Amino acid sequence: SYRKGGYHAVRVGDQFNGGRYVAQRKLGWGQFSTVWLAYDTTTSKYVALKIQKSAAQFAQAALHEIEVLSTIASGDPSNSKYVVRLIDHFKHTGPNGQHLCMVLEFLGDSLLRLIKYTRYKGIELNKVKEICKCILIGLDYLHRELGIIHTDLKPENILLFNTLDPAKDPIRSHLSPILERPEGNPNGGVTMNIIEKKLKRRARRAVAKISERRASMGGAPKSERNLDGIDVRCKVVDFGNACWADKQFAEEIQTRQYRAPEVILQSGYSFSVDMWSFACTAFELATGDMMFAPKSGQGFCEDEDHLALMMELLGKIPRKVAIGGARSKDLFDRHGDLKRIRRLKYWSLDKLLIDKYKFSETDAREFADFLCPLLDFSPEKRPTAQQCLQHPWLNLSDSTQREMKNEPSIEKVNVGMSNLQLKVGK
Ligand code: ATP
Ligand code: MG
Ligand code: MG
Repeated sequence: SYRKGGYHAVRVGDQFNGGRYVAQRKLGWGQFSTVWLAYDTTTSKYVALKIQKSAAQFAQAALHEIEVLSTIASGDPSNSKYVVRLIDHFKHTGPNGQHLCMVLEFLGDSLLRLIKYTRYKGIELNKVKEICKCILIGLDYLHRELGIIHTDLKPENILLFNTLDPAKDPIRSHLSPILERPEGNPNGGVTMNIIEKKLKRRARRAVAKISERRASMGGAPKSERNLDGIDVRCKVVDFGNACWADKQFAEEIQTRQYRAPEVILQSGYSFSVDMWSFACTAFELATGDMMFAPKSGQGFCEDEDHLALMMELLGKIPRKVAIGGARSKDLFDRHGDLKRIRRLKYWSLDKLLIDKYKFSETDAREFADFLCPLLDFSPEKRPTAQQCLQHPWLNLSDSTQREMKNEPSIEKVNVGMSNLQLKVGK
């Protein structure tokens, strides 16, 4: 993809926008762009530099993303809505063409990285709640104040404020920015190797310093992966697919696993598609597993499996909803049953949380109570982000907090009784 119309190749030390930004290291990439950590010599801060592929359709997409991000920034002057901030944008000409570049505030690892970091075991509920609050404040702002639908909400597109590995965090690891410019041959050569080696050496030194500090504090060994001390605030990113509710362009939106039923059925969509994806994301954070991971099989397609999985967890799709979309006739019979997947095994959400994920009964009931309304098959019945923020699950204590306050929880009482029975039995 590093050819005409594609990505722009970047080397450490490369300068952008007349020397204002200096590339430090690659942060990530997507279908449209590569994203680099860069040093902003004007503000002396680190930023994320998103460099779009150069072909016309990518430039068009970048212009759209810049428009959305500009709207977001101007509506939130204090930058307090948990949505990524656009700082600057410009064009950069390279051997592969002209690339639109976006300068974004520098954020940390994605929630997907966070899930992997905890080895897919799920994140403790108090932290899930903190993350959910940030996402909901962001969604409420986008939906209610700006009329924007994100359409691609998922763990990968939500970034923590922090980096999970402190050695990779330019601020916490006290790495000074690399400001040297490769001389002569822009494609590297000796100078670049020196800079890259220097960068690696600095990073190694930073890691050594951190582990030294950890050891002196009697800190956690490397194999332990709890999230103690990690501030789990986060922001919504990647507005390349976002649209205005009254100006939609794509019929098929959202990443498969986070796709709402009305999108599959092609019955039209609105803000509530983001609420569906939000619920799938919250479940994944708490359990480490995707809520729905559909696959095609013998005699049925991915869409049919997806709808079947939804019904096994949430109950039957109301007939009216099932038969109301442009694709309904392919998938459902006139009774509102799936044509090609006949036998469904129901497993309610709270039971699933208890049986498979070993939640306590209280935690399972409270979490399911929070999620289920968001997973209503009728999009207009789903709570809005604003309503969701009022839900007691986000504010009331869970069993841990109850214990801290010394109030007995239901589990405690049960455990007490079974102990008693055990003793009596003996
Ligand atoms: P996609 O194919 O997902 O649409 P894209 O080309 O639009 O990709 P983004 O998803 O915006 O690119 O960014 C790609 C990756 O770069 C992200 O997954 C993330 O790892 C990293 N990234 C993006 N923005 C930031 C930021 N502000 N701070 C730190 N890292 C970022
Ligand atoms: Mg992305
Ligand atoms: Mg994108």
